[in-house]
Formats: sequence, C-alpha cells, structure tokens
Amino acid sequence: MNVFLFDIDGTLIDAGGAGQEAMEAALAHEFGASGPVSGIHTAGRTDRAIAMDLFQFHGIDINDEHWSRYQQTYFRLLPNSLKTRSGAVLPGVISLLERLSPREDVRLGLLTGNFAEGAKLKLDHYGLFDHFEFGGFGDNHVDRDDVARDAFRKVQGHLPAIQPDSIWVIGDTPSDIRCGRAIGAKVVAVATGMFGAHELEPHRPDVLLKDLREADAWLQAAGLRQ
Ligand SMILES: [Mg+2]
Repeated sequence: MNVFLFDIDGTLIDAGGAGQEAMEAALAHEFGASGPVSGIHTAGRTDRAIAMDLFQFHGIDINDEHWSRYQQTYFRLLPNSLKTRSGAVLPGVISLLERLSPREDVRLGLLTGNFAEGAKLKLDHYGLFDHFEFGGFGDNHVDRDDVARDAFRKVQGHLPAIQPDSIWVIGDTPSDIRCGRAIGAKVVAVATGMFGAHELEPHRPDVLLKDLREADAWLQAAGLRQ
C-alpha cells in the first residue's frame, strides 16, 4: 500500500489569494482590524500560526472566544472569496488524482496547514475534496511537523501496518519537505507555489518536479506507475 499526502495551496490549487483575503476580512468584521499587514509569511505555515501572527499584529487578544469568532467568520467568508478571486487547479493535478483515486494499492490524504474546514471549503470549490480520505490539518498546531505527525497517526488508524517509507508527502515549500522528513516519509517537491525549483532543491526532496504534469516520471521511477 502507498499513501500520498498532498499539501493544498501551491500544490493542488492556487486559490488566487482567497484564503488571505477571507482571513483579513474576518479580522475586519469581528475586530475592526484593518490596514495593510506586513511581515507575515504564509507559505508552508499553518493557519493557526498565521492567524496568531495576525492577531498579534493587530493587537487582538488570543483567547478561546476571539479564536472561535475569527474561525467561524473566516469559514463563512471563504466561499465568497473563492468565487471572486481568480484561482485555479494547478497543472496536472486533476489527471493525477483521477488516475490515483481508483487504485487499490493507493490511498490519498491531505497534509496541509489549512484549518480542516478551510481545506474542505477550498477543495470543494474546485471539486477535489472527495478524492481524499484522511488528513492532518493546521487547526491546533503552529509547527507543520506536528501536522505531519497528526497525519501519520491518521494514516496508521486506517492502515496499522503502514511503513513511513510507503508514504509520500507532496508539497511546494521547504516546510513541506521538512515535515515529510519528520515522519520518515518520502517527499515530492513541486515548484508550483512561491518557491522555484532552485530554492527547493537545496532542501533535498526525494523528487523535484516543475509541476504535477511531470508526475508520471516520478511514479515510473518509484515503481508506482500502473
Ligand atoms: Mg503549500
């Protein structure tokens, strides 16, 4: 059995900035926080980590009530941002998922910094959600390595005999590569997000692809092609 754990933003889709727009709109709605945000990186980070930085940037207390208001409003606003921003499914993704999904020897999951509900909203919008059976999400963790450990536990729940080296983590940032290593998985880096191939290569992924249209070469080389 082989398990493929996909990152979302920059790997499966480019949501056209919908996530960031909805996050900022949620802060404005709930807390009146507005104005340009600077110095907060998003690529490869968890939504929990990004939101905590945004709260701090705007001087908003981080407590359970604020957190819940923020999340609920983000989830309410995200579908509209997805509709109005010009995002897209990234090259090669649909064809790859359609080929992998029906296979008996493959299970598909997510390993993403997105909140679980945000991941569902984004992937539903692009018609991709039903391909994925389980996942690790960014609701509770600041460190992406902890999300990977969660995802690994989920995989073990479904497949108790799974070995880490039968798991492939597919992502677009150095953090994706690192978190794959944290669970002993193999890593495919794709240069379809914020990082070019020359920036990903020094982090030594097992496989480096320009985009997922090149997935066949990887599957073939890894003996995973059918
Ligand atoms: Mg990403």
